Amino acid sequence: MSGIIKILPDHIASQIAAGEVIQRPASVVKELIENAVDAKSTRIQVIIKDAGKTLIQVIDDGNGMNSEDAIVCFERHATSKISSADDLFSLQTKGFRGEALASIASIAHVVLKTKIDTIDIGTEICIEGSKIISQTECVFSKGTSFEIKNLFYNVPARRNFLKSESMEFRHIEEEFERVALAHPEISFSLHHNNQEIYSLSPSNYRRRICDILGKSSNDKLVPIEEDTDIVSIRGFVLKPEFARKTRGEQFFFVNNRFFKDSYFNHAVNKAFEGLIQPKYYPGYFLFFSIYPNKLDVNIHPTKTEIRFEEDKFIYSILLSSIRQALGKYNVMPTLDFEQETAFDVPLSVRNQTPIEPIIRVNPDFNPFQSFPNNSKTSSGLSPALKAQGFGQMIPDKEAWQNFYQTEDTYTEQEQQLIPEEEIEVTKKYLTKDRYIFTPTKSGVLLIDRKRAQERITYDSLMSQFINSPIHSQQLLFPYNVELSKNEKVLWESHKSLIQRFGFEFEISGNQLLLNGIPSCLPEDAIYSCIENIHDTLGHKEIDKGEIAHFIVLSVARSISQSSLKSKLIVDSFIENLFQCRDHQYSPSGKTILSTLTLEEIKSKF
Ligand code: ADP
Ligand code: MG
Repeated sequence: MSGIIKILPDHIASQIAAGEVIQRPASVVKELIENAVDAKSTRIQVIIKDAGKTLIQVIDDGNGMNSEDAIVCFERHATSKISSADDLFSLQTKGFRGEALASIASIAHVVLKTKIDTIDIGTEICIEGSKIISQTECVFSKGTSFEIKNLFYNVPARRNFLKSESMEFRHIEEEFERVALAHPEISFSLHHNNQEIYSLSPSNYRRRICDILGKSSNDKLVPIEEDTDIVSIRGFVLKPEFARKTRGEQFFFVNNRFFKDSYFNHAVNKAFEGLIQPKYYPGYFLFFSIYPNKLDVNIHPTKTEIRFEEDKFIYSILLSSIRQALGKYNVMPTLDFEQETAFDVPLSVRNQTPIEPIIRVNPDFNPFQSFPNNSKTSSGLSPALKAQGFGQMIPDKEAWQNFYQTEDTYTEQEQQLIPEEEIEVTKKYLTKDRYIFTPTKSGVLLIDRKRAQERITYDSLMSQFINSPIHSQQLLFPYNVELSKNEKVLWESHKSLIQRFGFEFEISGNQLLLNGIPSCLPEDAIYSCIENIHDTLGHKEIDKGEIAHFIVLSVARSISQSSLKSKLIVDSFIENLFQCRDHQYSPSGKTILSTLTLEEIKSKF
């Protein structure tokens, strides 16, 4: 008795596969434009009739195909772009699955004209429902033209599912814009029913965005620029006031391929937190460059979902680079103390009702304003810190005094009674190795040294981490620590992230064998650092993007604890603290600075 399983004929299999790749006319447009880009075209024309139901034509001036390839290209798994699965990890092209043309040819009438540079005559092929109708020679200039007619003519269910013409054309425009934005060096045009919709000449990213969004967009763009060895990010975010109620202008590209990613989208939203109203969406055009072996483009047939090996770093880097850019371009007030950065204040603290600060600040005074570039005091900073924008705005002594001055602290008469030299910010005292006291015009400023050190170390480590992995220092004898089950999972699941902080380790059974530690971590602080990592990471439900924050925090805490034993040069210490953007609060959200006003002091006597 014969079995019931049959092997499907190729053309039926192609039709089924087509359902995944070609959902609507816009999918055909996407695949054909991407093929034209892969063929190294400098000019791509797209001609549409009736939102693609009657005609989709893409003409390019790229490499073209010889007569043999012009036939083979319609076969399933026919691709010139990869030859083994390994090539997937060094992918430079948009296509590689070799199924777009086979799918399209199985559900439409297709005319292909193509010619390569080295042969004078071109090839013309007509295909209907996977069947070759004719193959002839033709006159054609170098490049390729695909005409797709009667799409879904043999799949009525698909045809019936198509939306209104305006909706289908909107999808086509969307696909067109995504490729055009990613390739400003290529000239593109789009015609619909003989009307020119776009005619884009070769330009740069900024101009291309303005050509698509409208000229007035130029003033709305805030540039983003971040280079790390994991990812380079270029592009623009729209200033917060241009956030919209719909998600329209949100574009991520990786290696010039458009993709969607709710996790990274979350990072952008977080960067805009507090700057835009709830239910509004920030606009962005962000271009990532990453080694292809750190990506998996293969997880989705239309390749719009991409898996990133190091998504957690990228999240952190993205968040910080947008925050910095918004700050740098004065979109976000740099001295707004209520504005916490997502790195700096963990969720638990952020969600608490804020406690009214004790410190009294003159709200109109910005000590940084008149000292935009104090190279004298900022010269000692590391390039990484400078790159982060630290040290560009160091308040001088006078600014300092004013900063803590409140208008109504004492009367003019009283002020005259105070000898000049007592107002000088020169005398500083350290009590119990922990608290620094320093007089100001309005009283006494108190600094918690430990928390201040934590903030200074945290900021410096975080900016190092963002720029490159933190150097590791090899241990002469490996350091062993026994781990609980949870702790073991923690080290294993965040391995690559923890390694980037300079920890080199292996896990053997329930033992952690530490071979290298961050070079900034003193050896006598190793144990406390590991304890800190277990404490901070082990007992909390942590948001993925905040893992980097907690590891840096753990290391910073241990370094700060051990540095309490060493001698302190108070002047430079305070200067370092004030170079930190959030010098009011420790990375875990605790108060660093407090004041005793003259009245409070008086009341004690
Ligand atoms: P893929 O792009 O995944 O390789 P396709 O089915 O889209 O698969 O295309 C199959 C092959 O046809 C491509 O690998 C390429 O060699 C060739 N091809 C398709 N479009 C063009 C074009 N516009 N110019 C030159 N060659 C093309
Ligand atoms: Mg393709």
